[in-house]
Amino acid sequence: MSELLELYRDLIVDHGRNPRNFGELPSANRTAEGFNPLCGDQLTVYLKLNIAIDTIESIRFKGTGCAISMASASLMAEQLEGKSLEEVQTIFQTFHQCVTNETMNEADSMDKLGKLAALSGVKAFPTRVKCATLAWHTLQTALNQSKTPAMTE
Ligand code: ZN
Repeated sequence: MSELLELYRDLIVDHGRNPRNFGELPSANRTAEGFNPLCGDQLTVYLKLNIAIDTIESIRFKGTGCAISMASASLMAEQLEGKSLEEVQTIFQTFHQCVTNETMNEADSMDKLGKLAALSGVKAFPTRVKCATLAWHTLQTALNQSKTPAMTE
């Protein structure tokens, strides 16, 4: 195993076991729930949006699921706090490519995504892609404040 893959694995194990930004957010003004029926992952994402400047002030999440889903939610929350909604959409699109597109190279995804690139390995396992993207789909639902739960199917 390459050093990079080892680093990625350690990050996923660490964030899966000790998720950052875990818990409820009493001051949240956006909340959404997401389910991944294929794996049984479920998440609630809480956002505090600063609407005046279109920026995510705080993100918390809670839920249960596999290490990939928990690590992805944890890394996402850590990375997106303080980001503008425009930056969030750019990161989301790059992340989605990174976990689904075979042609995206490692150096490029590391450069653009930082620690989130740790999840790039899931592209070899299509069912795990749903685990890695659940938090992101739930985040989008919260941002759109739609009433229906996010589903990966
Ligand atoms: Zn899962």
